[in-house]
Amino acid sequence: MRMMNIDWWNAAWSDSKVYESLSEEQKTRLVEVEDFLGNNCLGWIKGSEKIRQALTEVLCRLPNEAGDVLLCNSDIVVIDGSTSCAWSWQYVCPTPNNILEKWLYIVAFRAALRDMPYKAVVGEVAHELAHVFLEHRLYEPEDSQEQADATARQWGFQEEIDFLNAQPRMV
Ligand SMILES: [Zn+2]
Repeated sequence: MRMMNIDWWNAAWSDSKVYESLSEEQKTRLVEVEDFLGNNCLGWIKGSEKIRQALTEVLCRLPNEAGDVLLCNSDIVVIDGSTSCAWSWQYVCPTPNNILEKWLYIVAFRAALRDMPYKAVVGEVAHELAHVFLEHRLYEPEDSQEQADATARQWGFQEEIDFLNAQPRMV
C-alpha cells in the first residue's frame, strides 16, 4: 500500500483513479483530515505552506488509535506561534444536569519551521500532537518531552524525530 504521506494526499485529491482505489478506511481518513485542517486550524494555514503540508502528512499517517483521539476533536486548536508548544486549559461546560470539566488544547507551530527541512517539520508536528494525545498539562509530567518523542516514534515517525533532534532546537 502506498504510504499515506503528503504525495499520497495530493494524488488522492487530484486523481480520481487514485481516489477510487482507496479503501473505505483511507477515504474516511482523507475527509477527517480535511475537516481537521478546516475546523481546527486558525488562519495560519494561509501563510505556512510547509507547516500545513507537514500537519496534513502527520494526520494522514497517524495510526487509528491516535487518529480516533485527535481527529474530529473540536477541543484542539492549531495556531502559528513564536515557539512550538502544546498548551492546555481547563474549562467548564454546563449541561442541564451537571458541569463537565473539559480541556482545550492550543497547539502552536513556530514560524522558524518554515526555514527548516521538511522532515524536521514533520517530526515537530508529530511531537506536538503526541503531547495532546498523552494529555500532557503545562510543565507536567517532568519527562513529557521524552514521552512525546517516544509516542511519535511509536506512531512511525522514528526517522523524523531522530532527524529533528539532530537539528538546533527550542520546543
Ligand atoms: Zn514538547
